[in-house]
Amino acid sequence: MSPSASAEFERTGTRDSSHKSASCAQLGPPPTLRELRARRGRGVWVGPSRLPNVTTSGGTSSPAPAPHAESRLALVRRARRTNRELASTYPDAHCELDFTTPLELLIATVLSAQTTDKRVNLTTPELFARYPDAAAYAAADREDLEDILRPTGFFRAKAQSVIGIGQALVERYDGQVPRSLDDLVTLPGVGRKTANVVLGNAFGVPGLTVDTHFGRLVRRLGWTTEEDPVKVETEVGELIEKREWTMLSHRLIFHGRRVCFARRPACGACTIAQLCPSSGVGETDPVVAAGMVKTD
Ligand code: SF4
Repeated sequence: MSPSASAEFERTGTRDSSHKSASCAQLGPPPTLRELRARRGRGVWVGPSRLPNVTTSGGTSSPAPAPHAESRLALVRRARRTNRELASTYPDAHCELDFTTPLELLIATVLSAQTTDKRVNLTTPELFARYPDAAAYAAADREDLEDILRPTGFFRAKAQSVIGIGQALVERYDGQVPRSLDDLVTLPGVGRKTANVVLGNAFGVPGLTVDTHFGRLVRRLGWTTEEDPVKVETEVGELIEKREWTMLSHRLIFHGRRVCFARRPACGACTIAQLCPSSGVGETDPVVAAGMVKTD
């Protein structure tokens, strides 16, 4: 990134696309995520890392400019602008688990561990019909429940959690799903991620859902370098307005499922590429990248 482009980013929180395409055209393979992380401290922008040495007409090259540290204010602005761009890209972002009550969402979220939401949505109609309330789960026959949950994987552990949740709700919460994170995480098989899903989508309490997509994206976006979900939640929570937490989670998860894949993100078709310091770690050809995007 040239000094003028660097100054432009500091001022606006974005990079000029002409600089980005120039870097892609002149460079060899983009750096790996590990390399990017090694160059980046907390809240530090290192976008110029992929810029080549400047080749003169005589064929010699001068050193790339020194990494440009992103101020805290610029990071906050870039994060919030990224959230707004994602809102435009995914105006219909939502929880992709089917549910009609807080209990159904709680159970569906527990079942979603290590499987897809689509798989869970194929399983829950029968489950919810057979077990309409907490008391029904508490009294469930374990083998019957395991048979229904088998397609979701880890069905024995999930059946145990579901029965335990039913029993805990009956014994401690009058059969109702509690509305606080502190209470929710005391239920069997319920961690902060599940609790925040329930709070945000069943009770309208803002929550950040740090799943595998969320964590990967916020690290690629340079919002945090943390791997621990609780630390990620804390750091992202300090960047984004609380009222946006639930929808931000949906948008990041949508983007992670459709564009910013774990192995080979479709950077060339990414609507937030100009706000992403990792742009170029994946496919940069716009046509190829567009073909990689998942639309369902
Ligand atoms: S697809 Fe590429 S540019 Fe977009 S957020 Fe992911 S890493 Fe960044």
